[in-house]
Amino acid sequence: MSFAKVFTRSIWGLHAPLIEVEVHVSQGLPSLTIVGLPEIAVKESKDRVRSAILNSGFSFPTKRLTINLAPADLPKDGTRLDLPIAIGILVATKQIEPKGLEQYEFCGELALDGQLRSVNSVLTLGIECQQDQHQLIIPLCNTPEATQVPHLKVFGATNLKQVCEHLTQTKCLTQQVACSNQSKVYPQPDLADVKGQLRPKRALEIAAAGGHCILFRGPPGTGKTLLASRLPSILPCLTAQEALEVARIYSVANQPYIFGQRPFRDVHHTSSGVALVGGGTRPKPGEITLAHLGTLFLDELPEFDRKVLEVLRQPLESKKITISRAAHQVTFPANFQLIAAMNPCPCGYAFHQDNKCQCTPQAIRRYQNKISGPLLDRIDLHIDVPPLTASDLQSTVPLETSAQVKQRVEDAYQYQIARQGCTNQALSPQQLEQHAPLDTQTKNMLSLAQQRLDLSARAYHRILRVARTIADLEQSKNIQSHHLSEALSYRSSM
Ligand SMILES: [Zn+2]
Repeated sequence: MSFAKVFTRSIWGLHAPLIEVEVHVSQGLPSLTIVGLPEIAVKESKDRVRSAILNSGFSFPTKRLTINLAPADLPKDGTRLDLPIAIGILVATKQIEPKGLEQYEFCGELALDGQLRSVNSVLTLGIECQQDQHQLIIPLCNTPEATQVPHLKVFGATNLKQVCEHLTQTKCLTQQVACSNQSKVYPQPDLADVKGQLRPKRALEIAAAGGHCILFRGPPGTGKTLLASRLPSILPCLTAQEALEVARIYSVANQPYIFGQRPFRDVHHTSSGVALVGGGTRPKPGEITLAHLGTLFLDELPEFDRKVLEVLRQPLESKKITISRAAHQVTFPANFQLIAAMNPCPCGYAFHQDNKCQCTPQAIRRYQNKISGPLLDRIDLHIDVPPLTASDLQSTVPLETSAQVKQRVEDAYQYQIARQGCTNQALSPQQLEQHAPLDTQTKNMLSLAQQRLDLSARAYHRILRVARTIADLEQSKNIQSHHLSEALSYRSSM
């Protein structure tokens, strides 16, 4: 047979569709043609594959070689197709006679001497390889990433020759297993490091328990950034399935990820819209997707370009972002918790007791107007972070640690999951009626607040969700008036 078919995968969005590398050897002038929408790195693989085959002790056929990458309408990128192409050529020219070739998938870049070099996004490839019940042969240095996929059979090789020996069963590769560092606990900044600020800390606990978005407002140096960076340490733990979902995103984005940790993305205000929501000709995940199941922190919120902030509105509601290109469409998950921080005015000292602020009322209004009403409306908790007093700073009373707060958050989180299968921030207005019923007293209280504060329907529902979380932190079945009044207090400060 002068024909061979080898399996590999390409990356498209967060998916890794199966690619069949078909190699056909026919009589004619020596040539090598690759068809099926290859991108530049794939076209260049011809030269790498030729040298690698020769330097691994095989001969390169002096015949007409046609390589088809199917399905032909899907663009193929990257250097990971080198290894499957080389295997395909060796099989089609009968230089190796492999056993059970159809149960394997191959990925790897070849050096000219036949060594295998690491490739990107191996975890994503591994997840779909496992779903198709194939086995994966990849460069040895990529195996720690791939072995994070449960039940996937992974083999690591250092060069082309080893892969051939494994396929012909002359010398088998050993199956790689996951190293046990997944349960390792990495130190995180602790809430006990933040002095004073009891009210902002309480708001952070509520945000963590119910998945709510939060805005800290206060002069510079009061600990807004410090508080925000403590959120991951009190969030409920990710399940194994969720951790894999996050790991897959980081694998595609080619960024480091500590398996099992909730992401925390601190985005600078000079970031572009594409950096924030994702994009590019081959769409890549942006910061909101990298913050999936974790936190997106926007410091100095009014310094962001208003257009950039407005693109956040839709994913905040739908928890995903769809990027459309001429031929294809990619949807990335974006279920993140937004934490924002801002100064009250351009100099930062408005409403300060020392009256240091030099800004005109117009300047303050212009500054605050940089954030649109609809965006503010989507943030559940608005908290003032006041300057610390000397007694706060000198206090030696031991403060609550993240571990203590996390325990309460975890209890409230499990309470919500058991009741409705999601966190309170994700409740629809219909679900709110069912899970957050009000008695006559609390109903009257909320109607009065709605008239006084001129609340939108969206804000009304957001207050109910926060009140539901406050009640859950007390493991209270019903929303009581003190839960509701606390929820209202986080709304009226702006
Ligand atoms: Zn000012």
